[in-house]
Amino acid sequence: MPSDPAADTTHLHQLADNIRREERRVLGFPGNLDFSLENLAPLLGVFFNNLGDPYSPDAANLNAKPYEVAVLEYFAAVAGAQPREVYGYVASSSSEALLHGLATARRMLPAAYVYASDQAHYSIRRACELLGMELVTVASCPNGTMNPEDLRVQALRRRRAGGAIVVATCGTTMLGAVDDITALRAAASAAGEVYVHVDAAGGGLVAAHTHPQPNWSFAHGADSLNVSGHKILGMPVPAGISLVRHELLSETAGGEYIAATDRTLACSRSGLASLLLWARLRSLGRTGMAALVGRCQEVAVYAVDRLERAGADPGLFPGSLTVTLTRPPTWVVGKWHLACAGERAHLVTVGHVTYAAVDEFAADVAAARCELLA
Ligand SMILES: *Cc1c(COP(=O)(O)O)cnc(C)c1O
Repeated sequence: MPSDPAADTTHLHQLADNIRREERRVLGFPGNLDFSLENLAPLLGVFFNNLGDPYSPDAANLNAKPYEVAVLEYFAAVAGAQPREVYGYVASSSSEALLHGLATARRMLPAAYVYASDQAHYSIRRACELLGMELVTVASCPNGTMNPEDLRVQALRRRRAGGAIVVATCGTTMLGAVDDITALRAAASAAGEVYVHVDAAGGGLVAAHTHPQPNWSFAHGADSLNVSGHKILGMPVPAGISLVRHELLSETAGGEYIAATDRTLACSRSGLASLLLWARLRSLGRTGMAALVGRCQEVAVYAVDRLERAGADPGLFPGSLTVTLTRPPTWVVGKWHLACAGERAHLVTVGHVTYAAVDEFAADVAAARCELLA
């Protein structure tokens, strides 16, 4: 039976209110919760379907593709690509974009192994399983970056495979480390031809606004790259940006029925996500984005200072927003929505994380330490 719409609306509004109340204490995850797009609510009454390639017309013509293309141009420039050097599309998340990058890599080097560090995101393993690619785990350095020397040894051992596919990470999940793709490409060349994909889900927008920039982008030799739309930028829905150097793409495959070329991994894609990305980027502008990242970096440095005073042994990869600390007791982890791995925990100082919240968090960490010592 149909339910009472008013009751359901009240229920869903309560759900949203409950989440909103928690927002300022969500420290452990890289999604910026500081955005407000309520003025775009009327878009929810319209079906925006970006069928097939963003650059291609489609038969249905109910799309928001010009806005998607504008978003892609922004991200391509941020990722150091020349105009028209890369093809891109707005995927459902970085994990899909990563799958797209690895599928492209496999077409270029069909027999090559995939090399990723022990700090890489789990979605790389899943992509390799789906694509039937063999994953080699490379050791990391204490600071969380992939160890180029171990990559060289591993690649040399497998040089008969015909090349190497390296998945570098720009902003590792637990330590915020940024792999140096120039060094990794040189190391992997022990196996022959090298393809470099950069998983810049969380760290791409940060690296792009760090001076000097680390070696992470197309300007430093990347072949493909993914960035999440919902992390640093902040979005009400997940989105991932896939960027691939043009010459690596397959011939224009397409769906006859949609009358569009389609080199994406979908068919129907969210036009709404592209419109929301466009709106977020327009409202910030380039200067606003740089200021946002700069402030987040300052909050990270501030958090390190506060946590040092609280005796929590903090760590921070230079320029990163990920501050690690000794894992506090469960009540602190729960209250502040921390992410933990083994004996360490971390917070990510994205846009909604205030100085005041850091102060309160550090006070809780110090209080918990006193409890333990008492
Ligand atoms: C968040 C993240 C992912 C996954 O991205 P989604 O957009 O959530 O699919 C992959 N890799 C890294 C390094 C990440 O930080």
